Amino acid sequence: MPQEVRLPLLGGHQDANDDQSIPWLCCSCRLEVLYRHRQLGICLKAGDISKRLLESWASMIDEEGMSFDSPAEEQTLQKQVVDLIGAYLAHVHADEPRPLAVEAALEAPLVDPMTGEDLGIPLVGIVDLILDGHDGPTVIDFKTSARSAEPLEITHEIQLSSYAYMFRHVEQRQEAGLEIRSLIKTKSPKVEFHSYPARTHAHFRRLFSVLREYLDALDAGRFNYRPGFNCAMCDFREQCSKWAG
Ligand code: SF4
Repeated sequence: MPQEVRLPLLGGHQDANDDQSIPWLCCSCRLEVLYRHRQLGICLKAGDISKRLLESWASMIDEEGMSFDSPAEEQTLQKQVVDLIGAYLAHVHADEPRPLAVEAALEAPLVDPMTGEDLGIPLVGIVDLILDGHDGPTVIDFKTSARSAEPLEITHEIQLSSYAYMFRHVEQRQEAGLEIRSLIKTKSPKVEFHSYPARTHAHFRRLFSVLREYLDALDAGRFNYRPGFNCAMCDFREQCSKWAG
């Protein structure tokens, strides 16, 4: 039995259209730097971010164990990241509120809000950004995508409901809404914000049904075949491909 249910089990940063993770890792670090400075009241400009990216590039590549076929490929990637961050900064409102949380680890015991049943295990995850607003806080998830497309809400439902569940537990208040901010790696980079309303009882009922089924399957030693984005990072891919039901 696991000690916790980790949110990456239920969804990730890459969109269905995404093709690789290196630009995402770089953008993710830059966005974290950007918003951590904003927490301190410092507004970094695109040039500041690019400069910091180039300064930390070598160590980041080393840490992540990335490699490139040629210097030209590396330069192209650097430019892609700089352009994506530039497009992001051009897209956000200059008066965006100071962040409540950046890359924040959240944890909440799984207690079914409908029945009061305690599943005996916490839900844990890291939320990219929480911004306060006139109507209340917005819980934000960044994603990269290879092409422009409205994210299908159902593919992100479990992830969004999980964020809302943990946020409400930690903050003891309801979110005003949730948002997916997509950085699109087209030749001319684009940024799209997609907003979703605060979660309802129906969302939490479905979340708990999925989690209960997952935990019951683990208890019973039953394998739940759930192919998805996480397969790319899964250590059991080889065994899984041989699974015959
Ligand atoms: S490879 Fe199999 S076990 Fe691993 S995440 Fe995918 S479906 Fe699940």
